[in-house]
Amino acid sequence: MFISDLHLEADRPDIGEQFLAFAAGEAREAEALYILGDLFESWVGDDDPNPHYGAMKDAIRGVSDAGVPVYFMHGNRDFMIGHGFAAETGVRILEDPTVVDLYGESVLLSHGDAWCTDDVEYQHVRAMTRNPQWQAAMLEKPLEVRLAIAAGARTESQARTATLSEDIADVNPGAIRDAMREHGVRTILHGHTHRPAVHRFDLDGDDATRIVLGDWYDQGSVVRWDAGGYSLDEMPR
Ligand code: MN
Repeated sequence: MFISDLHLEADRPDIGEQFLAFAAGEAREAEALYILGDLFESWVGDDDPNPHYGAMKDAIRGVSDAGVPVYFMHGNRDFMIGHGFAAETGVRILEDPTVVDLYGESVLLSHGDAWCTDDVEYQHVRAMTRNPQWQAAMLEKPLEVRLAIAAGARTESQARTATLSEDIADVNPGAIRDAMREHGVRTILHGHTHRPAVHRFDLDGDDATRIVLGDWYDQGSVVRWDAGGYSLDEMPR
């Protein structure tokens, strides 16, 4: 089972409640739960005592403790999640991208932002903020300073997103094809763009599929996958 882009935050208790119900219910029946980034709206370090985030961590721990392997991949909002979070919740952190074998099919998993290559300015920011030295320097700052920086970055990002055309914020088709060739897959699954869809196309004479998870702003979004295949579903609330 796959989810992404919940953007959990205290200001959106409706999303949190849906996630708590999901974590206490269907997630525990899954063979595995993959969280493909942007679980949280922002993350300034595993030492943040935010009680809303604490409740969400407990919920994930509940899924792990129920015997379901939980995997987490960083998004562009929660890329500072670290080993402390993993220890608290029991998740295993995956590199972006990662190939997994799903019932005999190799599937490339990613948050998806790395393939938004048309947004050159964003890719510069991404390269900077994913640098381990940049992250270490950030984590040395006091928690209050990090929270203030995150709040400022968020305001800036909201102003910028409003002015970008739809095309620029979507993935680049050439980058997707290159990644599929590089990793030898014909199926790819990601989030980030908030454009849930199943895209089918030809890749070097083979049928290729790109599955895109949706965000949780207005309803949940999930990919359920079992031996019979997959489905991309909305979860109303
Ligand atoms: Mn994202």
